[in-house]
Formats: sequence, structure tokens, C-alpha cells
Amino acid sequence: MSSAARKIRLLMLLRRNGVNSTDVLRAMELIPREVFVPPTFHDQAYEDTALPIGHGQTISQPMVVGLMTQALQLTDRLKVLEIGTGSGYQAAVLAKIARRVYTIERHRPLLAEAEGRFQALRLHNITARHGDGMRGWPQAAPFERILVTAGGGMDPPPDLMDQLAVGGIMVIPLGADRRSLHVVRLRKTETGVEREQLWPVRFVPLLPEVAAEPGRGRAASGQGGMEQGDVPPPALIPPDFSDVIHQRA
Ligand code: SAH
Repeated sequence: MSSAARKIRLLMLLRRNGVNSTDVLRAMELIPREVFVPPTFHDQAYEDTALPIGHGQTISQPMVVGLMTQALQLTDRLKVLEIGTGSGYQAAVLAKIARRVYTIERHRPLLAEAEGRFQALRLHNITARHGDGMRGWPQAAPFERILVTAGGGMDPPPDLMDQLAVGGIMVIPLGADRRSLHVVRLRKTETGVEREQLWPVRFVPLLPEVAAEPGRGRAASGQGGMEQGDVPPPALIPPDFSDVIHQRA
């Protein structure tokens, strides 16, 4: 089967499972996922599966990208902050819908590769930087939308909540235990935060500080060992669609 045919098959699968936003489907049709996966996995680029991208990280499963992007309720007038650039695929999809995308990655080599892809695909409305995304991007705040593509904790990082505009939406995997995360949608109002639990998911962990860099002589304080040997399965668990109450018409 040709790569074009595999892509169409994937888009149809997404539609059948609740990704019905034409903006999201169009964005995922326009962005070549094979550019974001390592060459050895090119033949799997249009399978509905997460794939390893090095440094113990993964490019998210297309279904999860589709549903999370849809949950953000984006328009071309909005500015989005993404935490966890990874391969850059999710940021590229966001960039086809939103006005401007800011994205932060704690692994410097992953960030460099992602930036190369943004250049090659002429995605000029993405600004990426290396850093600890849990601190957000105060110079560019407030953001109308925030998408966190790494998971953990019961509540969103406070700096991210501060940097969300009033009326804005944050989509983030949260949960006490990394093995029982849910994608949660938070809406910031004048008086507080509305919280909706969307569906169960498995994600690589959201970790504090930037990643240790061999040879640079600066380790992330106190967290250096966490990502070694404690890497979750390289796949995001497909959502259990019986739980997707907010995605169905
Ligand atoms: N959105 C990515 C997939 C994300 S994998 C894609 O489309 O390919 C999660 C990413 O979050 C990993 O690359 C991991 O290094 C990064 N990450 C985890 N904690 C972080 C933090 N505090 N700040 C920035 N990036 C973080």
C-alpha cells in the first residue's frame, strides 16, 4: 500500500473514532508524519501507533494527537503554548490551525531536530525553545490555549495555569499514578477553573528541569536518574473510546 493510501486509511480511522473536526483532519492530512519519525520506522508512520524518537521519548499516537488537538477548540486567531516538543509533530499540526505556536522541550537534541523539521516544512509560525516547560514561557504569555504532551500530577503546573488567558483552555494528561492518567480539559474563567475529565491515556512523564546533557557538565538537579530505566512503554495507550463522552456529537 502506498504512503498516500496508508495516510487516507489513518484519517478515516481517526474520523470513525471521534476526530470529526475538519480543521484537525485537514492539518493531519497536510503534515507528513514520516518526516517526524526515525527512518527505520518510516513504514509505520501512518499506523495508529506511538513510535520511539530517542532519549526514551515517543511521538504520540495519531489518535491521541487528533483527539487532544480537537479538545483544544483551536481557531486561526489563537496563540498556543505546547509543552513537550518531542519530534515536533504535534506542534506542526497545531501550526496548521492556530495563529502562532510556542513549544518547549527539555531535551536539547530533540529540540534541534524538531526545529530542523519546522524549517524544512516552512512552518514559520512556530517558535521553539529548550527549557523546562513546567515554568511556561512568561515573555510570550498569556496564551489562549496550552497543550501539555507529557503527563503526571493531580493538578497542572501553577506557572502554566498563571500563563493561561482568562477564557482560555488547557489540555493536559493528569493523574495520581502515571499508569492511570486522564486527558483533562481545564477552562480558566473570571472566578476559577472548570475541569472536565476526557479519556484515559498513557503518556511519557512530565519531568522538572531540563534533561541532563552528557559532556555539558550540567545535570538536572536531583532528577538525573529518573528518566533512565524508568521509561514507560513506548506507546501511548489507545484511549478507551467508551469513555470519550466529550468527543461524541
Ligand atoms: N509532542 C511530541 C511528543 C511528546 S513526548 C510529539 O509530537 O512528538 C513528551 C515530550 O515532553 C518529551 O520529548 C519530553 O522530553 C518532553 N518533556 C517532559 N517534561 C518536560 C518539561 N518539563 N519541559 C519540556 N519538555 C518536557
